[in-house]
Amino acid sequence: MKTYHTLRLILGDQLNEQHSWFKQIDSGTLYVMMELRSETDYVKHHIQKVVAFFSAMRAFAARLQEMGHDVYYITLDEEGNAGTFTANLNLLFAATQAKRFEYQLPDEYRLDKELRQFCSEAGYPYSVYDTEHFLSHRDDLRRFFEGKKQYLMESFYRKMRIDYKVLLDGDQPHGGKWNYDAENRESWSHTGGIPEPPLPRRETTAWQSWLESCGVRTIGELAPNFDWPITRKEGLQLLSFFIEHQLPWFGKFQDAMTVQHRFLFHSRLSFSMNVKLIHPLEVIQAAESAYRQQPDRYPLAAVEGFIRQILGWREYMRGMYWAFIPGYRHMNYFGHERALPKWFWTGETRMRCMQAAIGQSLDAAYAHHIQRLMITGNFALLAGIHPDAVDEWYLGIYVDAVEWVQLPNTRGMSQFADGGLVGTKPYVSSAAYINKMSDYCKGCAYQAKLKTGEGACPFNSLYWHFYHRNREKLATNPRIGMVYPTLDKMANRDALLQQAEIYLSQLDQL
Ligand code: FAD
Ligand code: SF4
Repeated sequence: MKTYHTLRLILGDQLNEQHSWFKQIDSGTLYVMMELRSETDYVKHHIQKVVAFFSAMRAFAARLQEMGHDVYYITLDEEGNAGTFTANLNLLFAATQAKRFEYQLPDEYRLDKELRQFCSEAGYPYSVYDTEHFLSHRDDLRRFFEGKKQYLMESFYRKMRIDYKVLLDGDQPHGGKWNYDAENRESWSHTGGIPEPPLPRRETTAWQSWLESCGVRTIGELAPNFDWPITRKEGLQLLSFFIEHQLPWFGKFQDAMTVQHRFLFHSRLSFSMNVKLIHPLEVIQAAESAYRQQPDRYPLAAVEGFIRQILGWREYMRGMYWAFIPGYRHMNYFGHERALPKWFWTGETRMRCMQAAIGQSLDAAYAHHIQRLMITGNFALLAGIHPDAVDEWYLGIYVDAVEWVQLPNTRGMSQFADGGLVGTKPYVSSAAYINKMSDYCKGCAYQAKLKTGEGACPFNSLYWHFYHRNREKLATNPRIGMVYPTLDKMANRDALLQQAEIYLSQLDQL
């Protein structure tokens, strides 16, 4: 093997061809990328997630070579692949006689720890670089909220709007308000089609059999729905498509759910951004610039709502992750212990909302935010599922699932297992909300309006049972409002709680 003075490691979610590393070509630097069993196996992943990561990594390695860089790419089945970063790096240092190690800051605590340990044990001089991807540094959020009681996303978001001068007139929010969320709550009652992005549908049969031959265990389906962007060019195509065809309606139908369309007006940009094919600022700027050029076509509420997801929520979640990891992983505020019902892995339940959200997750490795939060997450919280099991499911099933964003969303926002660090109150609802925001309840084996008895919707009794059993922890929460006075006045309270007990004792049969 040729000798090099430096090895630079690129992780599978660091596919940023605009990084300053790649501005100059140095024939003494070898870029190293690897497919590893430690990565395919730390949780059971959706097959589309594994294929999307590996395809994007391979395309990225080819792109760097095309740009003139030396790349050593280790495939999963390569003879001599030792299975972990540390073991492979040791082999490569010996083979190339390199004397220096460089890497970009990992976004996951697990890898951050592994690479720091490698550096201290291997003893090579080393440098760690920023990924040049995020709009705030790991510790910015912790410093911003130092000494404060609450970590409110809204305050962090406003700071970010000012720092990046996004949707601002001078130092004031454009349009007079910082947040137009109240205008973004319509359900979907239309029948028209929604255009599909022109992304290539790849032939994936070879991937399926190759992963099987490597012994990688996965969940979900690969064909016929695999169309995730795997290059920067495709990520940018998806962005242009979103701006042109979806952004005008993004806000209005952001919380809507329907069996007619899996994606509605959601962008599906999370994978492209999470593996760094495209930069969050270019996404934000594309949305703002479309609005500034055609304010009559793009409602401000849609544009602000979309930008808030990225400049606000995405950066906030990352900051929360680094502020509270590693302890965050073990938080279980309500002491929930139940196992995840078996149908989370098959979608075979009579609850039509769960069938739809889980079914499409298995088919497409995707569900939009409200499906994740108010259907699957809502059910898991009401049913008292152990947050470890909930995390494992979310981390495995979605194409965009990487721990820094999955964990605070799942354990924090969705399960309130952090006791209110991310959310100020638990996101739970009975059937009324689901019925209002979706067409799931029509045709369901259960009846949304029934609370007890044959065919009663499980969400109804479980909702009240959740509040009843957690009274001590929630009664003083100022955001809970009339829940406890209503519960205390209920004539059928005992029957309702009994109904919930029955459902809780047979979760696998729901
Ligand atoms: P859009 O609806 O089009 O939104 C645009 C972008 O905003 C997204 O691509 C994403 O980058 C960002 N965004 C929106 N909401 C959030 C949020 N709450 N946190 C961080 N970024 C956000 N997102 C992930 O990227 N990976 C995950 O593993 C993940 N797990 C989640 C688990 C749960 C329980 C919940 C409730 C949410 C989770 N999210 C996760 C956040 C959000 O649901 C997804 O980012 C979004 O559904 C991705 O689809 P999209 O690209 O079409 O998003
Ligand atoms: Fe879901 Fe209940 Fe509606 Fe059925 S009736 S779809 S279980 S909310």
